[in-house]
Amino acid sequence: MREFPRPSLISSKCIEFEACRYNGLMIKSSFINHLKKYADFLPVCPEVEIGLGIPRDPIHLEEEKDQIVLIQPSTGSNYTTDMLNFAASFLSSVKIVDGFILKNKSPSCGVKAVRIYPLGGNARPKTDGVGLFAKAVFNYFPKLPVEDEGRLRNFHLRENFLTRIFTLADYRENVENGRFGDILDFHRKNKLLFLSYSQIYPRKLGRLVSDSGKLPWNDLLSQYKKIMLEMFLIDPLPPANVNVLMHAFGHFSKELNHQEKSFFLDSLEKYRQGRIPLLVIQNLLKSWIIRFNNDYLNDQTFFEPYPEELMEITFI
Ligand code: SF4
Repeated sequence: MREFPRPSLISSKCIEFEACRYNGLMIKSSFINHLKKYADFLPVCPEVEIGLGIPRDPIHLEEEKDQIVLIQPSTGSNYTTDMLNFAASFLSSVKIVDGFILKNKSPSCGVKAVRIYPLGGNARPKTDGVGLFAKAVFNYFPKLPVEDEGRLRNFHLRENFLTRIFTLADYRENVENGRFGDILDFHRKNKLLFLSYSQIYPRKLGRLVSDSGKLPWNDLLSQYKKIMLEMFLIDPLPPANVNVLMHAFGHFSKELNHQEKSFFLDSLEKYRQGRIPLLVIQNLLKSWIIRFNNDYLNDQTFFEPYPEELMEITFI
């Protein structure tokens, strides 16, 4: 069993923390409730922070020439400057953060598909906006994992988000606060996980680590993190995972009998076709890692990138 660091997350306060929505309600999320056990949250409600009460008349985005503004239709008040100022002062004060979970479709927190009304607010809205606070998050932390609670109901998106925040927290806690040997160790144990994202980026990271004597420690840390964050923008798809699983399977090719091998290859094909989840194949390999005492694979984060309880498929 791996010991996991606690990711530091910033989240919309109305998701499972406080009933601060415009209508005085809170959003329920069993996933966030579970995640609270394993991560540290800094919940924030930008609308309350700029002085709007609970409950309050709703606000929305409007398109004014080439600018997006935050308007309260019932009063005609424009909250754009207040929101931008709050976002700048809040986000510039953040020292530690591994990712964000924001409320979907909100004119303040929504990360995509937010309604933007034409000026005056009566006509049919466009639905491709980003909330003003969320937009500032993307500007301040352009490569960090940012998701909304709606998208995190999707197993694949959730798996990717969790993998990224737990890996970044591990890097922050054990490498940035560590020594040279710790970056070597981090690179070694994440080798298969990184290969599930890309063939190219792990090579860049490997070169950086092997040339590390040429770089000051802080430069090495920041360059490694920059490349890792770029790599994490790639969506790990089944073909890349199949390559990694085959690589791991190769460690047991001499030890398994014919039936075990063909069962594995059949299961792999089912995974490739989307008929069974990755976890099934990973567990099959894990059973052989234990049986054949394979220390190298046992250390690979690919087989357990985040706590097992969070792997449940049925969060709502
Ligand atoms: S979506 Fe954001 S601004 Fe709106 S209630 Fe939730 S935390 Fe507050």
